[in-house]
This record gives sequence, structure tokens and C-alpha cells, in this order.
Amino acid sequence: MPDKKTAIITGSTSGIGLGIAEGFAQAGINLVINGIEPAAEVEAVRAGLEKHGVKVIYDNANMMDPGEISAMLMRAEAEFGGVDIIVNNAGIQHVAPIDEFPEAKWDAIIAINLSSAFHLTKAALPGMKARGWGRIINVASAHGLVASPFKSAYVAAKHGIVGLTKTIALEVAEQGITANAICPGYVLTPLVQKQIPDTAKARGISEESVIRDVLLANQPTREFVTTEQLAATALFLCSDGAAAMTGIALPVDGGWTAH
Ligand code: NAD
Repeated sequence: MPDKKTAIITGSTSGIGLGIAEGFAQAGINLVINGIEPAAEVEAVRAGLEKHGVKVIYDNANMMDPGEISAMLMRAEAEFGGVDIIVNNAGIQHVAPIDEFPEAKWDAIIAINLSSAFHLTKAALPGMKARGWGRIINVASAHGLVASPFKSAYVAAKHGIVGLTKTIALEVAEQGITANAICPGYVLTPLVQKQIPDTAKARGISEESVIRDVLLANQPTREFVTTEQLAATALFLCSDGAAAMTGIALPVDGGWTAH
């Protein structure tokens, strides 16, 4: 790895993105954190990350807006002199049968969970190529490898980002840049907590039953994956030891996709 790194992590004010930000800050990587909250709400989080001795800026670029995505990249390059690592993590979920699935939710999920990764990668690659080093990490999902009912847009976006990851990897394989997808199983973040009532409704079961019989039923470990485990995985993919790993979709899912 180059001496002092800078990373942009999208959707890093909460959940998995924030966990990866914590791990990266502890490893001495300067950060651009991102989310949709006003800056004042995120200030305590931003300042907390800086306690690890790195510089952290917050940019509330909306991942539905390609112009805001490229402006965030330009701001990061101006602030830090370059962006070495991007973690495309921002994501939303909506749970409903296809024949009731709102078109606006489909469009938003494809934009945030898939297209934003294309836009940020496109903006970041020229700098990575010029420096001859880069790491692109896409937070996909076990749903990038297998499907579940009632999550059509999410499963389509996550399968799509696995395909995008492979294409990026092939295009830049000789330029010191790797592109990999991490495919987490269930992590108990706000994204998962919010879908428990809708899943209960769609399946006609209790919320307790959703956790036990739907979410953790998929994970042979019967435990949620942690944000710390995902941060460790992302850090490994940034290391020189992982330089030959590219174009992969790496499950971190308690054995879910071994079924
Ligand atoms: P979360 O709801 O805790 O956090 C989502 C983050 O995305 C927040 O920082 C939010 O501000 C940001 N965000 C949402 N819409 C945005 C937009 N339009 N522009 C910019 N930022 C936006 O979610 P999480 O569970 O931490 O999920 C993070 C990623 O991990 C997602 O891509 C999700 O699909 C994936 N994932 C989650 C799980 C899980 O079980 N939680 C499992 C597999 C994959």
C-alpha cells in the first residue's frame, strides 16, 4: 500500500459503512465519509473518527445524483491530493412482492445500490491509474449471489454490482488496481431493523419469527455478521497481500451461500 492512504466510503454514517470507516481510521487511512444526513448531525461521528489521528471530511453527496458523486470525488482529490480506495457501500432496501413493488423504489434502489458504484468508479479511476495503485471495494450482499423473495430490486442491484466488479477488475488488472465485492450475510444495522416489520407483513408472521426463521435461518452460524468483521475483510482487500485477489465476490455470511 502507498504510505498514507485516502478512502471514500459511501453510506458511512451508519451500519456497515461506519464500521468500515472505524476500521480504516484505526489503520491510519484518511477518510471521506458520506451519507444523506445534514453535516451537523454527523459532526460527532466525524470528530470521533479523527481521534484515531486521521483527517476525516463529511460529504453528503446524494448517491442518486451522478453530478454530486463526481463533485465529491473532486473535493476529495483537492483535499487529500488523491483517492486511493473507494468503498461503494451506500444502499437501501424495500421489501414487497413484485406485483406490488413501487416503481419509484425500484428506481431508487438501482440508482443507490448499483449505479452510484459505476459513477464513483468512473470518477476515481483516472487518478488511480495515474498513481498505479487503487482498491475498489463494492459492498454487495449474499443477495449478490442468491435470491430471496420480495426483494426484486435489491437482488437485481446486488447481482448487478457483482458483474460490475468483475468488469472493472478485468479492465484495470495490469494497472495495480483491484476491484472486489464483499457479500455480507445479515448484519443487524438500521437497514435490516427497518425491513423486519415489512417482511413480517409480507410473510404473515411475527417480527420475532422474521429474525429467527427468516434472517438467521439463512445463516448456519445462527449469528449476525458484525461490522468489525466486514471492516477487517475490507482492510485485508486493501493490503498488498491481497494484490492478486481481484474480480471476486467474497461471501462473509456465516455459511449462508454454502447451502
Ligand atoms: P444502513 O441503513 O445502516 O446505512 C446506510 C447508509 O447509506 C447510511 O449512511 C445512509 O446515510 C446512506 N445512504 C442511504 N441513501 C443514500 C443516498 N441516497 N446517498 C448517500 N448515502 C445514502 O445500512 P447498512 O445495513 O449498513 O447497509 C450498507 C450496505 O451494506 C448496503 O449496500 C447494503 O445493501 C449492504 N448489506 C447490508 C446487509 C445487512 O444485513 N445490513 C447485508 C448485506 C449487504
